Amino acid sequence: MRKKIVAGNWKMNKTYEEALTLVSEIDNMVKDEVTGEVTVVIAPPFPYLQSVGKLTQGNDKLHLAAQNVSEHESGAYTGEVSARMLQSIGTEYVIIGHSERRMYHHEDAQTLYQKLKASIAQGLKPIFCCGEPLEERDADRHFDYVGQQLHDSLSYLSNEEFDKVVIAYEPIWAIGTGRTASSQQAQEMHAYIREQLSRLFDAEAAYNTSILYGGSCNPGNAKELFAQPDVDGGLIGGASLKSRDFTDIIKSF
Ligand code: PEP
Repeated sequence: MRKKIVAGNWKMNKTYEEALTLVSEIDNMVKDEVTGEVTVVIAPPFPYLQSVGKLTQGNDKLHLAAQNVSEHESGAYTGEVSARMLQSIGTEYVIIGHSERRMYHHEDAQTLYQKLKASIAQGLKPIFCCGEPLEERDADRHFDYVGQQLHDSLSYLSNEEFDKVVIAYEPIWAIGTGRTASSQQAQEMHAYIREQLSRLFDAEAAYNTSILYGGSCNPGNAKELFAQPDVDGGLIGGASLKSRDFTDIIKSF
């Protein structure tokens, strides 16, 4: 049975005080209002991880994620944060391969594979992001593009390693733009991703993998997106910074 997951990626937003306020509000709203079986993941900036984690400890629906991780185990890598460090402070998930990291930090497929491997070795659950730029969609090459991304970073993982991975499909043209993929566009890509996963891994693993949609998801469009058979939740950017909107998205299942 695959999990329904709604993950909030706060990116580089909020002061420490603001972060604590936001997570307390989410914690209360989720406790009071969310009745269904849904895993809520919160990815605050690194400096707030531990404090946010402490505030969510008493709520078994809330889980902690990092927005990035080093591909290296330990050592002289100034400014980097290892999977072991994340694991040691109670982090459960880690976002890997977000388009902003691919674009601004030049993270290539091999680096992403190493990040996946390093994270899984420490028991973290990667949320692996994929998604095409607008020119690939306009040229009708979006399926090939995403299939290649999956192949290039995931195919070296074993079935056991892949078991921990969550996929997030985030078309780049929909991230932070207010332009969402239609529920039909999301469904057909999610079904394609699942099919590709069944070629790389065993069919049961592909069936059980949660595939999240990300890209301008909001309380107004989440219900229709989450109703699609291969959409198992969302990776939410902007709307995860507002407790009311984020909770309403969680309640869209
Ligand atoms: C994201 O960056 O992962 C994202 C989905 O952002 P937004 O919801 O703001 O489009």
